[in-house]
Amino acid sequence: MTDFAALRRAMVEDQLVARGVTDARVLAAMAEVPREAFVPEALRARAYEDGPLPIGDGQTISQPLIVALMAEAARILPGDRILDVGTGSGYAAAVLARLGRFVWSIERIETLAERARATLAGLGIGNVEVICGDGSLGWAPQAPYDVIHVAASGPAVPATLERQLALGGRLVMPIGPRADGQRLVRVRRTAEGAWEQDDLGGVAFVPLIGAGGW
Ligand code: SAM
Repeated sequence: MTDFAALRRAMVEDQLVARGVTDARVLAAMAEVPREAFVPEALRARAYEDGPLPIGDGQTISQPLIVALMAEAARILPGDRILDVGTGSGYAAAVLARLGRFVWSIERIETLAERARATLAGLGIGNVEVICGDGSLGWAPQAPYDVIHVAASGPAVPATLERQLALGGRLVMPIGPRADGQRLVRVRRTAEGAWEQDDLGGVAFVPLIGAGGW
């Protein structure tokens, strides 16, 4: 039988610590969330591979390193209210939920949203609400957010999302062309009408489809 706990420990050391992830809370969250529960049954043995995996509907669960780097870049505090755009399998939402207070996670594909809800409920994770809809415009009913985490790449950071950040809030999102050349950016809301953006490096994500995306 596969020893998932051992694979998870190896993933944290070999893929995250070895490549510079240092935030102890992020490493602890990644060491605790059972990634195998979020991948299709047939791919469970590959759950801790160093890359994305297909989850159906043409979508993917992101590479563990990317999940960790985005969580680290968002500098999440225990009391933070988090918006997660692109629930996919629900894995990143589960990691974010260990770092902050509550996660509102939006997915545009109903079948994925339903499966993610079932997976999260099965693991007893009670501080994530999965919503089915277009997250490229954020989720106004619960705004503002301390952290906005976007796991699909759009042409630019949607102004609507920037406005849903609380003062001092952080948004982490890939932007750029649908194929090659995407960049991961972090936006910090520094004042009521001021946002600062920095570039965190090259990435490859599925497209953000919707009114504020492609
Ligand atoms: N974070 C996910 C996980 O842990 O499994 C992986 C996310 S996957 C790379 C990107 C997801 O974003 C896909 O499931 C896709 O359907 C979703 N997506 C794309 N555009 C969206 C939109 N406008 N609103 C909500 N979800 C969207």
